[in-house]
Amino acid sequence: MIVGIDLGTTNSLVAYYKDGEAHLIPNRLGKELTPSVVSVNEKDEILVGEIAKEYGALHPSSMARTFKRDMGTKNTYTLKGHEFTAEELSSFVLKSLKEDAESFLGCEVDEAIISVPAYFNDKQRKATKRAGELAGLKVSRIINEPTASAISYGVGDEDKMERVLVFDLGGGTFDVSILEYFCSIMEVHAIAGDNHLGGEDFTRVLMDMFIKKIHVNEADLDLITKNRIYKEAEKAKISFSKNKEVVIAMDVNSVFYEETFTIDEYEKECLPLLERIRIPIEKSIYDAKITLDDIDRVILVGGASRMPMVRQFVKKMMKVYPDYYVDPDTSVSQGCALQCGMKARDKQIEEMILTDVCPFTLGCEVIRYNGSFEESGHFLPIIERNTVIPVSKKQTVYTAYDDQEKVNVKVLQGESRMARNNLLIGEVSIEVPKAPKGEEAIDITYTYDVNSLLEVEVEVLSTHEKKKIIIQNEENKISEEEAQERLEKLQYLKQNPREDEENYFVITKGNRLYEQAIGNDREVIEQAIMNFEHVLSTGSRLEIERARKRTLELFEEMDHQESVGYFS
Ligand code: AMP
Repeated sequence: MIVGIDLGTTNSLVAYYKDGEAHLIPNRLGKELTPSVVSVNEKDEILVGEIAKEYGALHPSSMARTFKRDMGTKNTYTLKGHEFTAEELSSFVLKSLKEDAESFLGCEVDEAIISVPAYFNDKQRKATKRAGELAGLKVSRIINEPTASAISYGVGDEDKMERVLVFDLGGGTFDVSILEYFCSIMEVHAIAGDNHLGGEDFTRVLMDMFIKKIHVNEADLDLITKNRIYKEAEKAKISFSKNKEVVIAMDVNSVFYEETFTIDEYEKECLPLLERIRIPIEKSIYDAKITLDDIDRVILVGGASRMPMVRQFVKKMMKVYPDYYVDPDTSVSQGCALQCGMKARDKQIEEMILTDVCPFTLGCEVIRYNGSFEESGHFLPIIERNTVIPVSKKQTVYTAYDDQEKVNVKVLQGESRMARNNLLIGEVSIEVPKAPKGEEAIDITYTYDVNSLLEVEVEVLSTHEKKKIIIQNEENKISEEEAQERLEKLQYLKQNPREDEENYFVITKGNRLYEQAIGNDREVIEQAIMNFEHVLSTGSRLEIERARKRTLELFEEMDHQESVGYFS
């Protein structure tokens, strides 16, 4: 059996294809979203998802999250003395999803289509594939997240040319992709984004408004209080999606506050955030060498795209009604599952992947004549961002003054017009014969390949003398052998048995609540844990289920605080 998996930064989902539709698979706790969180407990067992998050709330150093950002790198996370790469941690999440799918579907799940961000390079894609294999899945395809979203919206159902802008505003990041579909082929034309813009920023605005209104100084608030305010602000923000007015009512430092906010005042405060949305959209349109009018459809993805002000903003800017009828949390996984169905029917959408693009502009420093005098420190782009790699580009420069003996090429990365604002990643110099200014020519050739290896070659045309340097992003290096070795080392660690997990979840949640509570609440929690443990050791399956439900209800009622806080 094959499933589609959205391996997300915050949450992961698994779905399957049946009767022409995608169906989401609930996890062992009955939820569609499994947090992409891994913990190792005191018994050296691997915990995944909600339970790992609960355990991590009490043992933060034994928990890893947002590790997708390190996919394909050597960076490791140490949990209870065990070191894991992002690839390994992802394999635990995938294994947990595989088990949930097998239990739900009642058959073996041995194959998967997994989604990755469009900007993932070859190395990150390979690491994702390996994570799947380590989890016992044959990864028959890695698909771009925006492509999966587009499929969930029916792009590709008809054989007509469509140009789609996928707008993905998640919790902490914003991604824009421009796709073009024609004759079963989906091509990614441009990608752009803002790694520091998402729903969390909109929550933060409301939190700041509340703090201002109650006249307290944020510096005087402890972490727990800040997390509580954040959580209340998030609830209020979500309720703004349906209401014109929201109330935040809560105790802060033993004083009860009840403050009302209107959508108008909130939206006004959010204007700077909305303006930031505009930038990546414009950049992607520009990079795809099209205009706004060329976009046929706009698809909204990511939880924060539910905000009416965001939808309004997109509508106004794009001059088309954006589509948002597919649940923005699940559209990627649904698209993956639909792709599984297409595979079975031999009618797949192929991707012309802009897999490997140079994500930034590479150039060098030059002197420019500004109309009245020559000014140094300018940036000359050689390979522009979003160029498909491997690529080789040449620029010719000339000596800048009479009798110049040496040309020094500063290799820069960045988008700024001025060299000093870009990142210096290397330097190469070459001798030139003395001559009047502008007479000696030098060819500078930049070659950038899929391994993020930049080769810079300079050649003096009159003497044919050449010099070459190679610049590599060392951080991203991980050899196949190293990866294999690490994977083998993992085999002795076992994942917490699925059957026990729901029970263990209740106890872990109870332990966390206990530590956060004081006084009478603590007694109630302790008693509830003990009662439940008693039923676990003596009760029948039915009794255990009943007790678990009862205990969980009690704990959820008492749980006023986010298990993993925003501020940590
Ligand atoms: P994602 O990473 O795609 O799951 O997006 C999570 C973000 O979406 C969080 O900041 C949530 O607060 C936000 N979000 C989810 N539902 C809504 C809603 N109905 N209205 C506003 N924001 C939402």
